[in-house]
Amino acid sequence: MTTTTARLLLVDDNEYSCDFLSRRLQRQGYEVTIAADGRVALDLINREPFDVMLLDIEMPFFSGLDLLQQTRQRYKPSELPVIMITAQHESSVVVQAFDLGASDYVTKPIDFSVVTARIRTQLALKRAEEGRRESEERYMLAVAGSKDGIWDWNLQTGEIFFSDRWKSMLGYEENEVGSAPDEWFNRIHPEDRTHVQAAIAAHLQGLDPHFESEHRVHHRDGSYRWVLSRALAVRDSEGKPCRIAGSQTDITTAKVTDPLTGLPNRALFMDRLSWLLERAKRHKELVFAVLFLDIDRFKVVNDSLGHLVGDQLLIAFAQRLQNCLRATDAVSRFHVGHTLARLGGDEFTIVLDELSDHAGAVRVAERLTRALREPFYIGGNELHVRVSIGVALNSTGSETSEELLANADTAMYCAKAHGRGRIEVFGPEMRASAMARMQLETELRRALEHGEFQNWYQLIVCLETGQICGLEALVRWNHPTRGLVHPKEFIPVAEELGLIGPIGISVLRDACRDILCLQQIYPSEKPLTVSVNLSCSQFAHPELVQQVERALAETGLLPSCLKLEITESMVMADPESARTMLHKLKALGIKLEVDDFGTGYSSLSYLRSYPVDALKIDGSFVSGMEQDTQKAEITRTIVGLAHNLGLEVIAEGIETEAQSASLKLMGCEYGQGYYLSKPVDAAAIRDLLAAQPPTSQRSSLDISHRGAVLGN
Ligand code: C2E
Ligand code: MG
Ligand code: MG
Repeated sequence: MTTTTARLLLVDDNEYSCDFLSRRLQRQGYEVTIAADGRVALDLINREPFDVMLLDIEMPFFSGLDLLQQTRQRYKPSELPVIMITAQHESSVVVQAFDLGASDYVTKPIDFSVVTARIRTQLALKRAEEGRRESEERYMLAVAGSKDGIWDWNLQTGEIFFSDRWKSMLGYEENEVGSAPDEWFNRIHPEDRTHVQAAIAAHLQGLDPHFESEHRVHHRDGSYRWVLSRALAVRDSEGKPCRIAGSQTDITTAKVTDPLTGLPNRALFMDRLSWLLERAKRHKELVFAVLFLDIDRFKVVNDSLGHLVGDQLLIAFAQRLQNCLRATDAVSRFHVGHTLARLGGDEFTIVLDELSDHAGAVRVAERLTRALREPFYIGGNELHVRVSIGVALNSTGSETSEELLANADTAMYCAKAHGRGRIEVFGPEMRASAMARMQLETELRRALEHGEFQNWYQLIVCLETGQICGLEALVRWNHPTRGLVHPKEFIPVAEELGLIGPIGISVLRDACRDILCLQQIYPSEKPLTVSVNLSCSQFAHPELVQQVERALAETGLLPSCLKLEITESMVMADPESARTMLHKLKALGIKLEVDDFGTGYSSLSYLRSYPVDALKIDGSFVSGMEQDTQKAEITRTIVGLAHNLGLEVIAEGIETEAQSASLKLMGCEYGQGYYLSKPVDAAAIRDLLAAQPPTSQRSSLDISHRGAVLGN
């Protein structure tokens, strides 16, 4: 019945009434075929499809009832509805006709409007039935072809139909699962069962518009699979649910693997850990360990090279770990089983089981550290990665999986706090220090919001004339209860947390503003300069140049009065990018200095080719140089080296007059240190500058007096 024109078969031996009816029906748009007797009709329906048969009961030779009977052997009423045409008095025949499968009847003399109404009804019923059958077929095809399992729960009989796919998803054959609700509910993970049942109940009670649940179901192989189950209830006319049917999708892969690296994710890792702990309760000799790995300064990579490179690094990192662990499994005398997972971000965890002893865990950690020392080549960048590793051992056997992971995390935290790139094994004493550090994190965020950071300044003095020529800005944290906190205590943490950016910007802006103000109050031939320290991630930040430019523009300080201090390690981390960055900064007209020179590692050839203006000799060479000839020699060498490269030299950490004097003799241009002045706040710096005598009378001794008075 694909065409809109319905095909009617009119079976009547009365030529006159037949003709009359067929003409009128044709005028209504029906296609009418006439059969003058039952045999012809039977022949026709065997050959051609008809939508409705109009059948006169009273016919010679082959009665209408006979034809009806034969028709029904071949077609169901829904396939070929038959409307009987009878005389009014033949009610018993009508009953008989219905028994034989007649669909309806009309009486003679035929009322045309009645017969067309009945034809329309039969056609509508037939179409509805066909539609239903089609959609059922479509549904069955969908069920058979779908990757999802289907379930259909008849709430009246209590039986559930489970599709084959539903069963195979859990490892069962078609005939291995019955139709009782327990077949389902008993397989749901005990921790999830109540919530699944509650969700179904909520939907059946009409509290939820649909049922949807993610839960674990027991597989025949003993594992649990994660499934997503969705369903809708069918309600009767009173709104009472009589049936609930829906789907079940296996979401195990999405649930247990990390989409970026393809490694197991946190959920799977915790599952595995719980399972090992359970086993360890039974087998006391079982030795296993959790390793918690965190990439040091991963944020710097993300911030400076972008998330794409960051992601690629994580993938390559995961692969390197995996390869190294496999190799370890293969070569170790004792089998080492492992599960490597990505917890999120740059955090990875490994559980090592079947270890021969606890020292084995540290050996594996050391091997990983070594393997990770090789650089990664990503998107044209050479990346050197270091990791901090925390190790927690299952020593007491009383821990939960969460606790064990937290212990490994704490140990990792301590590894970071103790200078990164290290391995630490968890001990209970670590908890207190980890707590303290966590508190520090919270407070740092608050400090930033409340503007608790403040610039202090230390004098930089010309050793030859004793004249103050510049200041170094040294940040202080004015903590509401702890008082002044020194940068060594919070800069590394701030850097790790990604808070150094905003701190650095405010230090820079304040420094420019303060120095401009001092220049205006104490004008001199050579205007005062200010040196500002940069942190690693600030230096790697793509917007550093704009930030510096903005600070200068906003305050109006001359670029030549601003000096930025970088360290050798910042430059050597990525020499080529550093060169580009230094040139861009230099193009702003500012000065560049290498801080803590001598403590890091740098190459002379690089140094020569970089646009730096000065070296700052680290205080560790200056302190004790009177007694230690080696220190003095190193200092002298650095001064010579700097001059050969056309650079100026500043000596840090000058604490005595003797140091100051010998540095002056070595030709070191500038000095900085407690002997000259301790770092002080902006107000105290004004006093120092105000007390500075006219140039002609200046001597370093004068300043040392002031330093001694003001330095605290
Ligand atoms: P730095 O840049 O090498 O600064 C010199 C440090 O030596 C300062 O410590 C200073 O107070 C100290 N010092 C100065 N003279 C003497 C002396 O005669 N004897 C001794 N023993 N020490 C002396 P401070 O202020 O605690 O800063 C420590 C480090 O923190 C700085 O070392 C610098 O690397 C970093 N820092 C300070 N302020 C900032 C900042 O605003 N941003 C960044 N990123 N780092 C900063
Ligand atoms: Mg410095
Ligand atoms: Mg320094």
